[in-house]
Amino acid sequence: MPGSIRRYLLEALEHLDVEVHTLAEVVDASDGSVIAMMDGQQRQFTAGSVVVAIGRVPNAGLADELEQAGFRVQVVGDAVEPRHMQAAVYEAAEAARIM
Ligand SMILES: Cc1cc2nc3c(=O)[nH]c(=O)nc-3n(C[C@H](O)[C@H](O)[C@H](O)COP(=O)(O)OP(=O)(O)OC[C@H]3O[C@@H](n4cnc5c(N)ncnc54)[C@H](O)[C@@H]3O)c2cc1C
Repeated sequence: MPGSIRRYLLEALEHLDVEVHTLAEVVDASDGSVIAMMDGQQRQFTAGSVVVAIGRVPNAGLADELEQAGFRVQVVGDAVEPRHMQAAVYEAAEAARIM
């Protein structure tokens, strides 16, 4: 995430009195609560909503398999690196043009 957007979001969270807990691993979420491991101990939090924002990583497994099977592979879009729609459309159009 670009630094300016990150800074803006952190300031907005602070302004809204949102508690931020880093290095916490969510182990369970049920109706109205979330349980997280923090410093080796389970802690329970009351939660109205749970938003999953754990980031995204590309999965090149299929491309690797196809390359090993002898296919010429052009990886595009989020499979290169999760970004935005424009990058995926541009790279797909470029790959189609080269084909
Ligand atoms: C919650 C969220 C919100 C977003 N909001 C925005 C936004 O507002 N603006 C913006 O520009 N971008 C946004 N993005 C990013 C954008 O969605 C992606 O960058 C874009 O969709 C990437 O396109 P893609 O074709 O590379 O991948 P995808 O859109 O993920 O398409 C890949 C396709 O391949 C299929 N597939 C996977 N494996 C296989 C397989 N083995 N065999 C056959 N098919 C397979 C998948 O089912 C999927 O349909 C958002 C992403 C998320 C997750």
